[in-house]
This record gives sequence, C-alpha cells and structure tokens, in this order.
Amino acid sequence: MIKTAGISKSYGSIQALNDVSFSIGEGEIVGLLGPNGAGKTTTIKILTGYLQPDNGSVSIDGLDVLAEPKKVQSRIGYLPETAPLYPELSIQSYLAMMADLRGIPEERQQRHISEAVYAAGLEKHLTRQIGELSKGFRQRVGLAQAILHLPKLLILDEPTIGLDPTQIVEIRSLIRRLSKVSTILFSTHILSEVEALCDRAIILINGQVRADAYLSELASSSDAILVLEKNIPGAAGRLEALEGVEAVSLESSREGHAHFRIHGEKRVSGSDLCPLIYNLAHENNWPLRELQHDARTLETVFNELATAV
Ligand code: ATP
Repeated sequence: MIKTAGISKSYGSIQALNDVSFSIGEGEIVGLLGPNGAGKTTTIKILTGYLQPDNGSVSIDGLDVLAEPKKVQSRIGYLPETAPLYPELSIQSYLAMMADLRGIPEERQQRHISEAVYAAGLEKHLTRQIGELSKGFRQRVGLAQAILHLPKLLILDEPTIGLDPTQIVEIRSLIRRLSKVSTILFSTHILSEVEALCDRAIILINGQVRADAYLSELASSSDAILVLEKNIPGAAGRLEALEGVEAVSLESSREGHAHFRIHGEKRVSGSDLCPLIYNLAHENNWPLRELQHDARTLETVFNELATAV
C-alpha cells in the first residue's frame, strides 16, 4: 500500500529526512514513532503529496505520488496535525462541503456522510457548530472528513495530541474500528499509543528510520538477565561462548552482585537461552541468584535508540 525508497528532505540547512525507506502492506496498522522534530510530519506530508522530497520515490497503492498526486490523494484519508475545520459551520454543512470538494457524486453524498458520521460517533451532534465543539469532538469531525470518500489508506498525524484521557480512549477505539476497513499509518511520540493500537512500529529519529519491527518480534527476543552473588572471573567469556549468544555485558555490580545481560543472536530470536545458561552456571558452581528471560519492550528499544544518538 505504501512504498518509500530513499526519501530525503531538507529545509534550508536543516535535514529533516535522510534516506528514509519503508513499505507498508494492505490492512496493516503502523505507528510512525519518534521524538519531537524526528521528521514524522515531513514524512506524512511527502506521503500525502503535500510536500516534495529532494530525493527518493514514494508510491501509494501502486501510484507514484510525485507523478500523480491528485489520484493518490483521492485514495487517502488524511488527518493533518491541525485539521482544517471551519468553526462557523455545523458538522453537517462542513461534511457536505467536504463531500463536494472530494468530488463524491451528489446521489452518493448522503450515504457517505451518514457512514462517516456513524463511524465517528457524531450522529447526535450534526447540527452543532464546529467552533463550539471540544477538542475531542473536533478530532472526531476531522476523522469523519478523512474517511468520507471511503479511502483504502488513512494517514493520521498525531491524532490524539492535546486530547484529555477520555477523549484519547475514544479516538483510539475509533481508529481501531477504522482499521478493520482501511490500512492505517499514524504518527505519534507516545509509546503507549503504538502499543495500544499497532502491530508494527517504525521508529524515526533525527530523520532516519532507526527501527522497523513488529511488536511481537520485540517480545520474542531471546535475551536473558543473569545475576550472580558475586562476579566470577571469566564468566562473561564462558557465557559468550554459548551457542546462540551474540554478546554479553556486565551491566552493574550492585550490592556486590554481578548483573549480566546476555544478548541472543537475531537469527535465533524467540529461542530461550535460559536452560543453557542455567546448565553452565550449575556445572561451574556459580553462585546463581537470578536468571530470567529479558523480553524487550518498545520502550526499551526506543530508549536505547534515542540515547544512542
Ligand atoms: P513534532 O513531533 O514536533 O511535530 P516531527 O517528528 O513531526 O516533530 P517535523 O515537523 O517533520 O518533525 O520536523 C523535522 C525537522 O524539520 C525539525 O527539525 C523541524 O524543525 C524542521 N522543519 C519542519 N518544517 C519546517 C519548515 N517549514 N521550515 C524549516 N524547518 C522545518
């Protein structure tokens, strides 16, 4: 559904994106995650044809965005960071205007509007003026306009920014419902948002894709934590020699205990190193205090990447 290859973009001397490539298949719900200034909005503007990259190519649903931006835009539902709403209009008039602008034939407009209004939970509020709505309701109107033309792909820029916790829960459940019929890419800087909604996260830091992983892959890491009562000379080397182990680090020696983090090889991700480590410790009479599987969370990965910059 989305394919980007080697996108770069600079604003004067600021390089916002540097060689960004990723693909998203039909039916996926993917979080584009990154700290402030990482390049999320720039990526989204390029995907939706509102900004031209300096280099690279983008295709949506098999169409080249640079060559056919209008055709691409007709296939996308886009919710920008601040949705262009008209405060003086009622929800009903605004959606009717958007249906016209989108070129939805008149005889189909009412059906499209009713479906979008129903999906966004706005049925009882159609006559209310947009300027009088709470932020959460305005966001719902933004989502309703984004899905009016039944797009195959929804691109949402920070859809829950500035909302209160109740509104966040509502908008997330709306996004979840929409994901049943559309592919969804949304940007966020909130880790829990990705964990709550997505199968997959693309982590953008300083304009570069630093990780692209299914959340289930992260949880299935084969890393382990071993704590010995005290450090044993040569223990790290013996652990590193175990089959399936890529690296071992002695993380700390709190209260005289030695904490080892044992990283499993990527190709055997999902396997459990703990039995091998236990046998090694047992055979050598190491003073074993603790041994556990270390499933990485999105938070661990994000923090590792963010602090490695
Ligand atoms: P945020 O989460 O804060 O919205 P972001 O990840 O969406 O950030 P972008 O808005 O894409 O990041 O910005 C990426 C970089 O490009 C930042 O350093 C930003 O200051 C810069 N930038 C974005 N738009 C412009 C612009 N129009 N002119 C100059 N610099 C810009």
